[in-house]
Amino acid sequence: MNITVLDTCVGCGACAIINPEVFEINGDKAIANYDKISTTEDLCIDAAITCPVNAIEIAD
Ligand code: SF4
Repeated sequence: MNITVLDTCVGCGACAIINPEVFEINGDKAIANYDKISTTEDLCIDAAITCPVNAIEIAD
């Protein structure tokens, strides 16, 4: 699984609450810690579904 946080992120912080191992707010955008994606895939999907602006892209 690979994750991209798009520029449309509004920095709401929801993804970092759902999966703090992967998502972190840096300034006004989320960034992803790629090392932790493989062990938290379900939470990555939850974060992507929850993102209010669909800024989390998931690819296989
Ligand atoms: S949930 Fe979406 S909009 Fe909110 S910080 Fe995460 S990527 Fe950005």
